[in-house]
Amino acid sequence: MLIRRITKSYAFEAAHRLMHHRGACSNLHGHSYKVEVEVTGRLQREGPAEGMVLDFGDLSKVVRPLIEEFDHRLVLSHDDPLCELLSGKEGVALNVMSDVPTAENMAAYLAKRIQEKLNEESTREGMRYTVNGENRKAFNGESAVTKVTVWETSTSRATWELR
Ligand SMILES: [Zn+2]
Repeated sequence: MLIRRITKSYAFEAAHRLMHHRGACSNLHGHSYKVEVEVTGRLQREGPAEGMVLDFGDLSKVVRPLIEEFDHRLVLSHDDPLCELLSGKEGVALNVMSDVPTAENMAAYLAKRIQEKLNEESTREGMRYTVNGENRKAFNGESAVTKVTVWETSTSRATWELR
């Protein structure tokens, strides 16, 4: 079986804080985040994505809107009192997470959502190809998101892995 892995990188800027952190991370501060998404699966045998696990462009159709949920936003935990204080205020774009907004939790959230969206989106126009008269999904369901790494700084990263 021709199993291959592909990885694509994305970046976003965001502010966050870790409410219960014992150091400076409990203050509002920002990072230039980098995200690496790995998809593992069989090589497609025909059509426009022949020889690929998944077209990088098709992966981006799914990942970019999720990255935009974080880009230039303030990412807070749902139980952070700042949510109520800042919600609806001009110049404040919030992303409220169900967990503490660590790189670990961002990686897990992104992995889950990317997999869900790959499954959903592949049934829609723009993520389907016609091959020999047959309508096929760009994402054939035989591939899976196997790793998502979120870099918070150039020396600190957290990885979610499918086990
Ligand atoms: Zn931080």
